[in-house]
Amino acid sequence: MRRMRYEKQILLKEIEKKGHEKLRKSTIAVIGIGALGSNSASLLARAGINLVLVDRDVVELDNLQRQNLFSENDIGKEKALAAEEYLNKINSEINIDSYVADLYYRNINILDKADLILDCTDNLETRFLINEYCLKNKKPWIYSGILGTRGMMLSFNNEYCFNCIFKETTENLETCDTIGVLNSVASLISSIQVTEAIKILLNRNNTKELIVVDVWSNELKKIKVNKNKNCLTCKGNYYYSNGKKGASIVKLCGRNAYQIKGKRIDIDRIKNFLYKGRYSVTTRDFIAFNDGRVILKADSEGKAKIIYHRYFG
Ligand SMILES: [Zn+2]
Repeated sequence: MRRMRYEKQILLKEIEKKGHEKLRKSTIAVIGIGALGSNSASLLARAGINLVLVDRDVVELDNLQRQNLFSENDIGKEKALAAEEYLNKINSEINIDSYVADLYYRNINILDKADLILDCTDNLETRFLINEYCLKNKKPWIYSGILGTRGMMLSFNNEYCFNCIFKETTENLETCDTIGVLNSVASLISSIQVTEAIKILLNRNNTKELIVVDVWSNELKKIKVNKNKNCLTCKGNYYYSNGKKGASIVKLCGRNAYQIKGKRIDIDRIKNFLYKGRYSVTTRDFIAFNDGRVILKADSEGKAKIIYHRYFG
């Protein structure tokens, strides 16, 4: 007997045929195709959900420990393109739009066709940007984060916002450089995040608590969150989505690297590269993208700027 691709999903009393048809018509944007983005996108593609993929980086050897859409052959390729290629092999029936880009206020409209956004990034600035975009457009989104053996997830469906709960900070919170990350925590948080996304798409009650899990000790906490009556973002004061906030140089998590956004780059003029992707070139000192971004290997912002100016004026 020939089996149908989604048979087991349709059998679920939580989904059934009607729910499945709704999922097939839905589109989810996955921002950041690292450990969380890889796991989440893979689950969503298998469930038959259309995807928008956004990632600003290329695949490197040390990603393979936890980013399960990539293999050794993908090193040097843009993550969004390598992910699309792999996901198309998993499910050729879904529609996938991929963007090699750093999400910021000028290109945020690439999320317009998505019904829901998954934050799989590792930086606060992008989360504040997604938060404002989703408030403005009344779209649900789901925050996730991992560090060490712990992970967090919180869904936003217009009851409260990211700014009600998390504060902006100038401190460098990105410590996975020093602490590391266990690959299994990414699968766990992605599983919770994708389940939450399916619930929201099917108009079921989403979890209104911050989920904090430690995969090592098997502890799971649900922390109650509340809307902040004085939240400026909820009152319609936006900063990230109109370009009033957002740095042109950012420290990237997971390695000693900085991203600088500058004028467009003719990547064909860059010689002595290690890898060449469709939109990027990786050299020993930097990765340059044709949209004007350069990721520089440096242990301080100052050194990153020196290398940038040496190569790009
Ligand atoms: Zn708020």
